[in-house]
Amino acid sequence: MEFTMSKILPFYILSFLIVVSSSIEASDPSSSTTTSPSSAAAIISRFQQYLQINTAQPTPQYYEAIDFLLSQAKLLSLESQTIEFVPGKPLLLLKWPGSNPNLPAILLYSHTDVVPSEHNKWIHHPFSAHIDDNGNIYARGSQDMKCVGMQYLEAVRGLKASGYQPLRSIYLTFAPDEEIGGHDGAEKFAESEVFEKLNVGVVLDEGLASPDENYRAFYAERTPWWLIIKATGAPGHGAKLYDNTAMENLLKSIESIRRFRASQFDMIKAGLKVDGEVVSVNMAFLKAGTPSPTGFVMNLQPSEAEAGFDIRVPPTTDSESLEKRIAEEWAPASRNMTFRFKQKGSANDKFGNRMITKTDSSNPWWALLEDAIRNAGGKLGKPEIFPASTDARYFRRQGLPAIGFSPMANTPILLHDHNEFLNQDEYLKGIEIYESIIKAYASYMENIGENRESKDEL
Ligand SMILES: [Zn+2]
Repeated sequence: MEFTMSKILPFYILSFLIVVSSSIEASDPSSSTTTSPSSAAAIISRFQQYLQINTAQPTPQYYEAIDFLLSQAKLLSLESQTIEFVPGKPLLLLKWPGSNPNLPAILLYSHTDVVPSEHNKWIHHPFSAHIDDNGNIYARGSQDMKCVGMQYLEAVRGLKASGYQPLRSIYLTFAPDEEIGGHDGAEKFAESEVFEKLNVGVVLDEGLASPDENYRAFYAERTPWWLIIKATGAPGHGAKLYDNTAMENLLKSIESIRRFRASQFDMIKAGLKVDGEVVSVNMAFLKAGTPSPTGFVMNLQPSEAEAGFDIRVPPTTDSESLEKRIAEEWAPASRNMTFRFKQKGSANDKFGNRMITKTDSSNPWWALLEDAIRNAGGKLGKPEIFPASTDARYFRRQGLPAIGFSPMANTPILLHDHNEFLNQDEYLKGIEIYESIIKAYASYMENIGENRESKDEL
């Protein structure tokens, strides 16, 4: 009901009524069906249903996904709101109210969209959610991250069935557009008044599969710097040797960047660092040459040449020295070079602190997570920096602790790859892990998170 309303209302009305639609419905989930909703078969079937909804960019079927999730939320008697910060891009917010609303809440975050897939390169269709003889469920989104979104719901179902009552309120968010940057989803949500009123104390977002038995948890992520360097120089005859041509100067820079890239990569190869801990640099484009009807003019040295690089910078890196390196070695004015950033994310939150979620005793949420995973029979590897970007950055930017975690052990990393799959036993195990985490978080008594540098000042 509420999403239909949001869909029809123009945005200017929506901006006033943005949270007007909410529903609280109680129903007995076990009354309408003969198969127990908590049976493994029913749990897997619900996961398949969510996976079968085509939410691939660039034309995700968001309303179908929200419809399905709302039907689940109603069976679980969760309060719901559908919010559209941008028309056509619904964000679903569910609430399980805690008995002490003064305590900061728990936010279980997930995104509903998935990346596109080349259907003909999959052994099973990416929206079939086919289960093979080994119990592997094939679907786009099975790892990134429809698994997590449904596991949250299933964990809530399990906890409710056990009679558990949370102390802190628990919110579940199903957001749009993560795969295209999250600007119309998580970014607007994290900056909204709606979000501020939730009084969130900690956020859980996605992590990565782990090929071994240890789960992985992420406390920060690398920031993308999209660098474009440009060389200019006098054009000249292709047969003449002279200094300061645009091509020659750009090549010197590329060589210097390539050496830097190798030095970072060597640290990974030597086992000294992992992906998220080094600065990665990859050339994204090379633009040079004077076009001719048959290709390029061959006897002319062009006056301009440009190259673009996707650089990923860990929050632990001294970004000033990296920028100095760019200005002095990679694009020096002395070689007639200039540079600009197509994108350059900040490593700091809005209070000027590094966007790093603490993993020591100053952050009880980390220790609670570790204990909860262990108590549920899982193992956790050492904290990691996420090598790419997730929506967690928008919550860290608000000064909140955010932990990236997707319970997928013994699973190859297949996000964005062909034949993405998750084994059903791993999926079911993950639900138990979340039950343990949610219980630990929502039962935590200490009033933490309230005294972080005050939101009221801003
Ligand atoms: Zn994702």
